[in-house]
Amino acid sequence: MAYDARMRSLLALSVVACLAACGGGTPRPTHPVTRVVVVGAGMAGITAAHALDAAGYDVVVLEARDRIGGRIHTVDLAGVPIDMGAAWLHGARDNPLVGVANAYGFTHVADDVDDVALAVSAVEGPFDDREIADAFTVADRFFGRLPALRRQLGPEASVADGSDAYFADLALTPRATLLGRAMLERSYLELDYAAPLPLQSLRWVDEDPTLRGGDRILLGGYGQLVERLAEGLDIRLSEVVTRVVYDDQGVTVHSTSGAMSASHVILTVPIGVLRAGTIAFEPPLPEEKSAAIERLDLANLEKVVLRFETFFWDELEDNSGLVMSDVDGEMPGYYDLTSEAGAPTLVVLYGGDYARSAQATLNDEELVARALANLELLLGRSVPTPSATYVTHWTTDPFSRGSYSFIPVGASPADMDTLRAPVADRVFFAGEGTRFRTSSTVHGAFLSGVEVARTLGVASTGIPTAPSR
Ligand SMILES: Cc1cc2nc3c(=O)[nH]c(=O)nc-3n(C[C@H](O)[C@H](O)[C@H](O)COP(=O)(O)OP(=O)(O)OC[C@H]3O[C@@H](n4cnc5c(N)ncnc54)[C@H](O)[C@@H]3O)c2cc1C
Repeated sequence: MAYDARMRSLLALSVVACLAACGGGTPRPTHPVTRVVVVGAGMAGITAAHALDAAGYDVVVLEARDRIGGRIHTVDLAGVPIDMGAAWLHGARDNPLVGVANAYGFTHVADDVDDVALAVSAVEGPFDDREIADAFTVADRFFGRLPALRRQLGPEASVADGSDAYFADLALTPRATLLGRAMLERSYLELDYAAPLPLQSLRWVDEDPTLRGGDRILLGGYGQLVERLAEGLDIRLSEVVTRVVYDDQGVTVHSTSGAMSASHVILTVPIGVLRAGTIAFEPPLPEEKSAAIERLDLANLEKVVLRFETFFWDELEDNSGLVMSDVDGEMPGYYDLTSEAGAPTLVVLYGGDYARSAQATLNDEELVARALANLELLLGRSVPTPSATYVTHWTTDPFSRGSYSFIPVGASPADMDTLRAPVADRVFFAGEGTRFRTSSTVHGAFLSGVEVARTLGVASTGIPTAPSR
């Protein structure tokens, strides 16, 4: 879960321990490690490369885009750095990246956007505080009911099936049902897990442990962290990898400017890229791994960022709003980012089915127009023209093909283990979608990078960490 908008019972997870122990479960390579090519300069690839480089290995990173960071992308929006991909360090107390950010001297601030301050429906109008609090309770209880719903509906049920069954049993008024469902389905499930609800597996939703300590935002953007970790590395940009050939002698990685030989390759490209088949493997990946890749998928969280000259949304200050327009799932989540950005800024989040269809059919102008129309609905008044806007396209970007992984109906966390398993002791895999318990997050990508470096023999990652003061 990348966007942790819901207060849940806290389950401690000592991810920090992974910094010391990760890699122990995967057998060490039997071939000597002489040169490693890392495919992808996102958090997983940069972390692995940093650790290998610090340990004295020869390592080269090939990155398809003309920038590093991958799904971390801090953009200067009219003089203000805004994160268009990952924005939150989830669970400050358990998140290993908080220690890394501390050690590098970055400033991060608490940013728990759990509260929905405003909710409105195009049909029912605005909801009051009592109704919002009740809907929050109704939505939250769904997660406590998951074991019973799974027993009732079976292993092939989707989250949409679960939500239908849950609300069928609650004798709520139509108005309370509308808001309760929007709180659960739009605000939590489609913005956290972000895939269309009929595709999300009921069995595996909400099985990722919540990290303790609340969420934080890095002032100046997440990009700084990845830039800092990448310092001094041999990174080749605009190198689209198209083919990986491996045999007993080593690997050859083919990309835009030619071919590079190495003893090992680490692929950190998103599952969406592996599914698309734009990287050929010779010989083909084992049937079991290809089948796992086919079963897994990426979700579709997208953002529209609205920057204004003046701040005019007092009722949303440091908070969030939930919109139910007349189009199902259309841009439901509004988040005030003004204090973190240092300028009047709203981030509009949307995911699920709506994101898939809107990304395929609407242009940027239309997406901004929909975001502004829904903002007017939320505030109940007209709004000025933004001074700057930014629209993301993670879903259609050929180098991400979605936002982050989720477990679809018919898949299971074991598929991520299968994806992670090395092939022929030459081809290694890392990235957020290769470790279920921390999947869909930046710290998951980071830990996967640490893990693969350790598997290749790195004893110390050389990545500094310091406690919060
Ligand atoms: C909108 C959005 C919001 C998010 N919010 C949060 C959040 O608040 N908190 C959080 O923890 N996580 C969040 N995430 C998830 C987080 O961004 C990812 O889990 C994490 O950044 C993934 O890192 P990675 O290294 O595994 O993959 P990536 O960052 O995707 O890196 C893979 C790299 O491979 C490159 N690549 C792809 N194909 C090729 C090729 N053929 N040849 C060479 N290179 C290639 C890509 O360009 C990319 O740079 C969010 C993601 C999105 C999209």
